[in-house]
Amino acid sequence: MSRLRAIEIDDRDRIPHTPEDFLRWLGGPAILRVPGRDGARTRAVSTLLHGNEPSGLRALHRMLREGFVPAVDLVAFIGSVEAALSPPVFSRRALPDHPDLNRCFAPPFEQAERALAGQVLDQLRGAAPEALVDVHNTTGHTPPYGVGTIVADPQLHLVSLFASAYVHSDLRLGTLVEATEHEFPSVVIECGMAGEAASDALAKAGLERYLGAGDLEPIREAVSGITVVGRPIRVNIRTGARMAFGDAPVPGADITIRSDIDGENFKPMPRGAVVGWLSGGAWPLWAVGVEGQDVSRDLFAARGEILETRRDIIPIMMTTDPEIALSDCLFYVVFPEGG
Ligand SMILES: [Zn+2]
Repeated sequence: MSRLRAIEIDDRDRIPHTPEDFLRWLGGPAILRVPGRDGARTRAVSTLLHGNEPSGLRALHRMLREGFVPAVDLVAFIGSVEAALSPPVFSRRALPDHPDLNRCFAPPFEQAERALAGQVLDQLRGAAPEALVDVHNTTGHTPPYGVGTIVADPQLHLVSLFASAYVHSDLRLGTLVEATEHEFPSVVIECGMAGEAASDALAKAGLERYLGAGDLEPIREAVSGITVVGRPIRVNIRTGARMAFGDAPVPGADITIRSDIDGENFKPMPRGAVVGWLSGGAWPLWAVGVEGQDVSRDLFAARGEILETRRDIIPIMMTTDPEIALSDCLFYVVFPEGG
């Protein structure tokens, strides 16, 4: 992983035509500075922390090419450029044998990705932005939504520029948004599935609203229109368990998850809803929230070979990518919050 570059975007004509060539031009992780109409204030964007989540990068690239001038100065961090460029382009979350960059924003900032994260935090803090929007994609089909650690009007307003749902997370994963939560309003925006034109369009429209607004004063109607869910519990496959996606039990798999499971994202699943099938061997799931103990058997149950929900849940971030399911998590369970 190469070191952080700082690039002033003063001449738009130098920006290559395609997002891929733009990344090659950046050459590695980079902080872009784009002058706005009011040079006394700054807003921050980060994107491509995961190399397989290109909507934010595509949006920024197009906005720069189209001559978009932000209302205030923009500082933009483009993260996993090398992972994104390693062929096939936009297929890798991180470089092989490297950690997930968005799990590295907590001290100690020693090894390569953590050192990069530390430098990025220094740069962002130095810029003292009014807010930070960290643009991601999901690996499954989902409506767009925001994620953050604080439920207050500034965060809900930022989310309302992109989506109508907000996940209040109390997990501590080492993300960029966790690291900056008390310094300026910081939210993740999940724009929808990577590679879909609708996700790219949503990222661009939202960033144009965020960066084009004269001020970020929360608008009452927008804030009150956001559905807030919280207390996320990570649902994981136990190490060593063989997992498959399918429409029926897959021979040899300890657990088969419904291959259309991502269609349930953000939809309440009632008690008794089918999640998949079990082989009858050892219990293959574990699920932990902020308390840290395994609650997988409170959430799910075996009925014969069927794996079903044991209580009403809302699943989010459901993936049908086996690699993500095994290396990160299968999905999160959340519950409605507030009134
Ligand atoms: Zn991501």
